[in-house]
Amino acid sequence: MEKSFEGFSVGAEEKKMGLRGSSTTQLMLDNVKVPVENLLGEPGKGHKIAFNVLNVGRLKVATQALGMSKRAFTEAASYATMRKQFGKAIGEFGAIREKLADMTAAIFASETVIYRVAGLLDSRLALLDHSGSDYYERYQKAIEEYAAECAIAKVFCTEQLDMVVDEAVQIYGGYGYIAEYPVERYYRDARIQRIFEGTNEINRILIPTMLFRKADNGGSHSGNWWTRRGTAPPLKPHTRGNLPLPPPRLPG
Ligand SMILES: Cc1cc2nc3c(=O)[nH]c(=O)nc-3n(C[C@H](O)[C@H](O)[C@H](O)COP(=O)(O)OP(=O)(O)OC[C@H]3O[C@@H](n4cnc5c(N)ncnc54)[C@H](O)[C@@H]3O)c2cc1C
Repeated sequence: MEKSFEGFSVGAEEKKMGLRGSSTTQLMLDNVKVPVENLLGEPGKGHKIAFNVLNVGRLKVATQALGMSKRAFTEAASYATMRKQFGKAIGEFGAIREKLADMTAAIFASETVIYRVAGLLDSRLALLDHSGSDYYERYQKAIEEYAAECAIAKVFCTEQLDMVVDEAVQIYGGYGYIAEYPVERYYRDARIQRIFEGTNEINRILIPTMLFRKADNGGSHSGNWWTRRGTAPPLKPHTRGNLPLPPPRLPG
């Protein structure tokens, strides 16, 4: 769709809590006529393309959250070595060191999750034959196999980010609440990450739904990671696919 098409208009710039470096506006479509030659994909299947954009988008939000966590940690750790109270740098106090430890662990875990999901996607996409008119359809299906993992990364990394920016503000003390210092912005910028690209509540609904579906379909190309570690119980009559379910309720 071109901006010049009749019926298309752009709303006013939103005044946001954070992310003020980026523009956010509504895009309004009022009976816009789009020429047939502009159609992407097939009629009636646009939602599939849109959902797949969301899948990869969730991994990207996770990555963004990781970058923000690293920046907030770096600022907080550096402030902790500089700010002195009771005759020492606050970074020498156990309470502050514990915060730095938790922040580092959250960053390490987030990075691990992101590389794992990116690795799964990379390995799967590397198997695709690039020839043929159905390439894009196969590409989409391959990404869809890891929709749950992308959602897991989004939920996990954005919630780790919230903890990290919150502790960064705390380490800065009163200055953490003052706009002149960098962590005040990180705190505001972080808040949207749990809301867009599917709220974390919606992603938490999607994760088990997608995993059950995957189990029913025999897992992804690389199998089911949640039962591949040798610790999974053998299949029993009450299991569905490879995903163990709770024991059935006995009548009475
Ligand atoms: C800065 C910014 C940028 C954005 N960029 C884009 C963009 O580029 N493209 C785009 O399409 N959108 C964009 N959005 C919109 C954003 O994706 C939505 O705001 C978000 O998905 C939440 O939808 P909603 O606001 O309608 O919340 P609602 O759906 O009204 O949800 C409100 C609350 O109810 C909860 N909730 C809703 N349904 C359920 C349920 N079934 N079970 C449990 N809890 C539920 C939600 O989790 C949330 O906590 C942007 C928003 C902002 C603020």
